[in-house]
Amino acid sequence: MAQKKQSTVSALLEFAGERRGLLVAGCILSAAAMVITMVPYVCIWLVVRDLIAVAPNWSQATGAVKYGWLAFIFSVLGIVVYFGALMCTHLAAFRTATNIRKRCMAHLAKAPLGYFDTHASGLLRRRIDGAAAQTETLLAHNLADITGTVAMFVTLLVLLFVFDWRMGASCLLAAVVSFGALFAMMGGKNANLMAEYYDALDVASKAGTEYVRGIPVVKVFQQTVYSFRAFKAAIDAYSEKASYYQGTVCKTPQSVNLTVTEGAFIFLVPVVLLIAPGAYAAGDAAFSTFVTNFAFYAIFSAVLSTALAKIMFAAGGLTQAGDALKRINEVLDAPVLPVTDRPQAPQDASVSFENVTFTYEGAELPALDGVSFTVAQGQTVALVGPSGGGKTTAASLIPRFWDVDEGAVRVGGVDVRDMDPHVLMDRVAFVFQNTRLFSTSILENVRAARPEAAREQVLEALAAAQCDDILAKLPQGVDTVIGSQGTYLSGGEQQRVALARAILKDAPIVVLDEATAFADPENEALIQKAFAHLLAGRTVVMIAHRLSTVVDADKIVVLDQGHVAEQGAHAELVAAGGLYARMWADYQTAAQWKIQKEVA
Ligand code: ADP
Ligand code: MG
Repeated sequence: MAQKKQSTVSALLEFAGERRGLLVAGCILSAAAMVITMVPYVCIWLVVRDLIAVAPNWSQATGAVKYGWLAFIFSVLGIVVYFGALMCTHLAAFRTATNIRKRCMAHLAKAPLGYFDTHASGLLRRRIDGAAAQTETLLAHNLADITGTVAMFVTLLVLLFVFDWRMGASCLLAAVVSFGALFAMMGGKNANLMAEYYDALDVASKAGTEYVRGIPVVKVFQQTVYSFRAFKAAIDAYSEKASYYQGTVCKTPQSVNLTVTEGAFIFLVPVVLLIAPGAYAAGDAAFSTFVTNFAFYAIFSAVLSTALAKIMFAAGGLTQAGDALKRINEVLDAPVLPVTDRPQAPQDASVSFENVTFTYEGAELPALDGVSFTVAQGQTVALVGPSGGGKTTAASLIPRFWDVDEGAVRVGGVDVRDMDPHVLMDRVAFVFQNTRLFSTSILENVRAARPEAAREQVLEALAAAQCDDILAKLPQGVDTVIGSQGTYLSGGEQQRVALARAILKDAPIVVLDEATAFADPENEALIQKAFAHLLAGRTVVMIAHRLSTVVDADKIVVLDQGHVAEQGAHAELVAAGGLYARMWADYQTAAQWKIQKEVA
């Protein structure tokens, strides 16, 4: 446990970089501030001692004014030093959080694109931001508070034994009992209970979010809240944990702790009663010292347990920061796409798969197994086959969403792994089904493909992608910001803007996931026209969902369960009477059925 906390702090110190020293300085200053804050109490004790010594001739207590000023000066000094401490720790904490964010972002920039398929970008951002913010609390406050409180505790211990060790020991007893009670609540096996408690809270809040998202479904289907069993179960689990923890585990220890902390002198009184007669017998001077000491211990006995509780709560920050660090490391453990030292330039715009085998992480069967096919420059290859056959996977290996396990994917004769990633990205344009548009103007959305493109070029690309009707109906035309003033584009319209993007990119190779179905036939006709513009004269790898679009392809590759079932031109495959011939027959029956139905 101590080992783990040590490593949490040192790992964070590493992130702090050159501001590491500030953090150490902050902790030292905080400790100094705490010790300084104790001085006024001592001064008060000295004043009380003076007054008691001269009682009732108060005017003779000349030291009182001096001690009063000292108390004031040290109070102010304590605040100033503590302020300085927080200044240091905050500067270090902010830099650390920034460094964590930067390091995570830099790392994610090197991750294969496929990583973002399985790790939603919003989630990653929240994870990084949340974790960085959590370490901020530890570094800016908790660490300085822990060192400060430890310093205070040690000073107190010394003070306790300086004046009268017997009263000191009795006060310490209160602290020990209170510490024992706190440990019974939070230490040992109950430390896990705390973790479980927070986990349950986490689950409940996630289920709550899901519930809110699902309200439309609930309303449409006239369901009650009880249909959200997961939500109810999460709340029940949380409430059970909370009442068990608070009602069963904490009840007795917390009562003991509060009693002992608030009434710490219950230990002091018997001791005082025991030693009072002796002090009285020893004469006036000894007795007045005894009374002053009693006043001192009565005040300080409570501070001791409070200090202990503070240390324990601040230590909770360590656990949280440890959690945060774990999440940060998960991001930093994301795979990195290896980049070659000696990049080779592709010879032409051909694409070839050579015996490609690829298995998704955690999957049992390979998604692609020994897949080979070639697409010569300027040719169109259609990938077809049953759902789950590996079409999307094959297409995403070309831009290195993932790297193959065996075999090679070549572009222009060069293994994609031996190419400069920028060159590869320049050569290949992708249009995937659910392309996302940024919330910026249509112009900028399209220009993202080629930042140096002039406005006219963007407009040309939009025209080629049959987007003129979209621009015409938007309030500011091509400069309309998507998502603003209720301007949303339908799925088909978004697809056309995405096509304009690909057309503007003007890459020699196009990888295209043809959309399954568009609601309105009008959009579909426009999209087909846009396709024609995009595909003319380029090498095309197309995932086709409707066989009508593949009839004219130079080659059709039929993928079934990760294998190439057959490949060839449409006529050849129909003649061969294999899987494709069956799919074609089914497709024609369906098409005829549709026509007949419409005629009837
Ligand atoms: P298709 O596009 O032909 O429908 P896919 O390439 O999407 O097929 O999927 C091929 C196989 O890989 C399927 O068995 C699918 O379940 C699996 N698969 C696809 N994506 C992932 C992923 N991100 N993680 C794990 N398995 C995946
Ligand atoms: Mg697919």
